[in-house]
Amino acid sequence: MGNFTYTGKSLASPSPAVTSLIRTLKVIPALQGSYGTKGHTLPRLQWRANGGLNRHDAGLALDIILFSAKESERIFAWRLADLFVLNKWEMGWSSFIYMDLTWGKSKDEPSPYTADKRHFDHIHIDWMDYAAYLETGKTGIPWSASAFTTGSDGGLLQSITDAQLNQVSSFDEWWADQQ
Ligand SMILES: [Zn+2]
Repeated sequence: MGNFTYTGKSLASPSPAVTSLIRTLKVIPALQGSYGTKGHTLPRLQWRANGGLNRHDAGLALDIILFSAKESERIFAWRLADLFVLNKWEMGWSSFIYMDLTWGKSKDEPSPYTADKRHFDHIHIDWMDYAAYLETGKTGIPWSASAFTTGSDGGLLQSITDAQLNQVSSFDEWWADQQ
């Protein structure tokens, strides 16, 4: 088990937990790609933000771009949410947010998320230990013990395979097949 505190300097790669989740989600062809208009495309899986002292640039968070305004992407996001809950102890995440809901470890059902309306186009999932951040006087973001784990490679990968999500190259075609 390592020990690391992010202090705002650039980080070359995210935490093992985020790396594990990216590696696992990349077995889904539709999440390997990018979105947006020609010349302004962004990847579906984004761990880094704009620099600075925040949980993304600390390597502790991942945004999974899934537009809730599109039914196929919204249902797919909820499917992923189910699998994150199913595998929560092995994955070790702290919480995740989608649309106006947030999921924590203490119960399987989501709670209302009211802080902002920024998560209608992506799932935000993180391994942030906010108490540890406060203990630094907000000068650094320590990686929690679970940030050093790679649990997504186990049960989550199996769940994705069992649900045949590793065959989804188009959200629209996948959703058409589900109905
Ligand atoms: Zn995020």
